[in-house]
Amino acid sequence: MPTIIPLADARASSQREALDRFVRAAAQGARASGALADTRGRPLRDLRISVTDRCNFRCVYCMPKEIYDANHEFLPRAELLTFEEITRLARIFVDQGVTKLRLTGGEPLLRRNIERLVEMLARLGNIDLTLTTNGALLAKKAPSLRDAGLTRVTVSLDSLDDATFRRMNDVDFPVAKVLAAIDAAAAAGLAPVKVNMVVKRGTNEASIVPMARHFKGSGHIVRYIEYMDVGATNGWRMDDVVPAGEIVRAIDAELPLEPADPNYTGEVAERWRYRDGGGEIGIIASVTQAFCRDCTRARLSTDGKLYTCLFATAGFDLRALLRDGSGDGAIGNAIAAIWRQRADRYSEIRTENTARVPKVEMSYIGG
Ligand code: SF4
Repeated sequence: MPTIIPLADARASSQREALDRFVRAAAQGARASGALADTRGRPLRDLRISVTDRCNFRCVYCMPKEIYDANHEFLPRAELLTFEEITRLARIFVDQGVTKLRLTGGEPLLRRNIERLVEMLARLGNIDLTLTTNGALLAKKAPSLRDAGLTRVTVSLDSLDDATFRRMNDVDFPVAKVLAAIDAAAAAGLAPVKVNMVVKRGTNEASIVPMARHFKGSGHIVRYIEYMDVGATNGWRMDDVVPAGEIVRAIDAELPLEPADPNYTGEVAERWRYRDGGGEIGIIASVTQAFCRDCTRARLSTDGKLYTCLFATAGFDLRALLRDGSGDGAIGNAIAAIWRQRADRYSEIRTENTARVPKVEMSYIGG
């Protein structure tokens, strides 16, 4: 059976203890001056916060049913960061240069009273506050999320074909409900909605062009994501990847495209717009065109560990600092020290061999 982090090994390992010692030492240290950048000169700009490791879908590439079955142990409630802890950490991250916060999971809308957390984070001031969801609960919650201060929303949708979509989410959830949720989000003022489609060879590549056609002219932005080796449970192989170039060619043949400039340095999606003015799509080519060079993203797990890469094997325990009485300055020092020694560039060095190395699961760390 594949290794699942973090429930067994990461917390007990000597690597874990070494990381914890590092965080504590950093928290005591004097704060270095100057702009915060990692070993490759990348600033810290984005923080993705996983608010739950639970999900109501069992997508085959993320939380496959065989692993996440009735016997799977999710994190107990006491392990989760509270809303107050999340907000305090977020404020410290903002002080370190973060300008964008994204709530993820698991499925973030499963976290009870998530609107209250949104409201607390929105009060931090001038930040881009977004959320990624599978859409199952979005139609009901979109107005209250907007009222709480959410800026935008990203919805995961892997196919417009109902049978394919039900097979991929593996809980028989109908595509029509996700489409209704996207409409509800737009109506609530969370537009433009970004629609993320993970493309897996032999599974949903036939949905590439229909997805483009459906959302063209709607104002929403479909983003095609190359299938990645996240976690240790999805059995990734290079043959499963539909390369970005192939995705663009397939759409361009029917709906002519032209490249568009990035909105900002470090934008994950490569932008393409329809030549007839019908809007744009994005391509996230993290396998065939790695974008580590401009990666400014950190991730905070459900239980308060800081990960500096989606493909990390271990995180830094910030919750321990929150709960041992450390002050904001000490926690800021620790975050800065962690970021300054960051050298991650997994997508630049990925092979089928690295894909087999156990990594944290995406449902725990956030996508
Ligand atoms: S592999 Fe890691 S460093 Fe590279 S872009 Fe992804 S998250 Fe950033």
